[in-house]
Amino acid sequence: MDGLPIIILLLVIIVMFGFLRGGGRVGRGNQPKVVQALLFDVKLNQVLVETFHMREKPRRFERANWEVNKDNLDFLDETFVKKCGDCDHEHENTVEKCEKCGSANLREPFQLGNTLSHMFETVGEFNDQIKAAKKAKSTSSLNIDVDKLKEPLAQSRQGLEDWMMCTIGQKELPPPEPPTLTSMLFGQR
Ligand SMILES: [Zn+2]
Repeated sequence: MDGLPIIILLLVIIVMFGFLRGGGRVGRGNQPKVVQALLFDVKLNQVLVETFHMREKPRRFERANWEVNKDNLDFLDETFVKKCGDCDHEHENTVEKCEKCGSANLREPFQLGNTLSHMFETVGEFNDQIKAAKKAKSTSSLNIDVDKLKEPLAQSRQGLEDWMMCTIGQKELPPPEPPTLTSMLFGQR
């Protein structure tokens, strides 16, 4: 049975490879889906802020999509200074025209990480209070200034929608198309 250790080694490598591919960085194709999910949290929280005082019992704010994706959002903090909107060339210095193609269609980097993490941090603090109030079966200790979230939510939404506009040309992903017979038989193209 000389081949056995090699087979085991191969299996370990295959499992490791799958694990590495599964975790970590968000692929370019998945980035709009992640942003859409974050937008879902943001928009729901905007509704919850508006309706907060109408509720008899406070409802916790949403941060599920943030929790899932927060460690993979490097792409929302771009490191260049200017990027050409025509040829995608990234510039490390301030320029008036693209050094590669001469276009004046240049944009600033997206830097949304801080805005999002501060906002969701506040959301988390509010949720902790709401959770504690539920446990104590009393809302008397609840001291939540929901207005504190309005501006950060508006900024987050604006930033994420701008990112969508810039990346896919619209504020939201189109709804998925219903599966056709061909796609069911042969998979999505
Ligand atoms: Zn260019």
